[in-house]
Amino acid sequence: MRHKTRTIYAGGVPIGGDSPVSVQSMCNTDTRDTLKTLNQIRELEYAGCELVRLAVPDKTAALTLKDIAEQAKIPIIADIHFDYKLAILSLESGVACVRINPGNIRGKERFREVVLCAKELGRALRIGVNAGSLEQDLLDKYGVSAASIVTSAKRAMEVAENEGFTNYKVSLKSSSVPLTVQAYLEFAKDTDVPLHIGITEAGGERTGTIRSAVGIGSLLLNGIGDTVRVSLTADPVREIDAAWDILAAAGVRKRKVEIISCPTCGRTEVDLISIANRVESECQNIKSQNGLTVAVMGCVVNGPGEAKEADFGVACGKGCGVIFAKGDIIKKTEENNLVEELMKTVRENMDA
Ligand code: SF4
Repeated sequence: MRHKTRTIYAGGVPIGGDSPVSVQSMCNTDTRDTLKTLNQIRELEYAGCELVRLAVPDKTAALTLKDIAEQAKIPIIADIHFDYKLAILSLESGVACVRINPGNIRGKERFREVVLCAKELGRALRIGVNAGSLEQDLLDKYGVSAASIVTSAKRAMEVAENEGFTNYKVSLKSSSVPLTVQAYLEFAKDTDVPLHIGITEAGGERTGTIRSAVGIGSLLLNGIGDTVRVSLTADPVREIDAAWDILAAAGVRKRKVEIISCPTCGRTEVDLISIANRVESECQNIKSQNGLTVAVMGCVVNGPGEAKEADFGVACGKGCGVIFAKGDIIKKTEENNLVEELMKTVRENMDA
């Protein structure tokens, strides 16, 4: 069951409550370059990104946000470290949300100024705790631990709540998967604040995806998480693909076709690896809000069962395959036409 949180809004995107778990990423362009940044935002949006974060390293970047926020179709989140004045400038430039790291903003009063500005302008904040930049007194007391991460967030929350500001979410990130999961579980015990989840500095595409899948997946299966960012040392579009795959695997939200394929074995009598790869690649461009499943199976052991259970499927035999649609056998096809015939069946019947 999903952990109960209140709903906040970042622009038009609801986060928390019963809202769909949203997907976000972060541009890696020079955010002072409006054109390049807007182009990347469009690419991300096309891939399924619903909120996008931009680094704000200086005043020029904060001012450039005005043009970007006006032209982008998805809400912009400004990422602020160290300088609370950049947070205020970014809010004045029209961003929907500001991410503040309480560990490096240096003082409650500065954070309070940001809270008051967000409240006055009707914007959102993310209290984004990172295990790599915790306050020194917390490190002295608790070391790098779930206790220090959670306490850092709760301190900042207290400042916001004292000002009557509730339109904020929290993230509790660490590059350690077990520590991250532990921190979120601790935090969720006695709060209803919407949670932005992710594993920070997760690594390159393969390693980072696996670590994110384990961490984010564990949280989602515990009902925790209202918005997700997969953090990869890779093209940010890959983060969006990975985030959607994790949401689908956790049974939380679907946007793409889900492929079910067997690992192949000594019974396989077609080139199933190549067939499955081609089907997966062709399915990449099919958007499916209801989460279509396509099974690509090697033989009669589990093939007919899985192909019948999926929306579409093929159960292969010796140099051939039987194609299924919505549980029914459609046709038998030779191996060299299998992918074309299966994809034709998917396209003709997917909205039926
Ligand atoms: S479905 Fe058939 S070919 Fe595929 S792994 Fe299972 S037994 Fe092997």
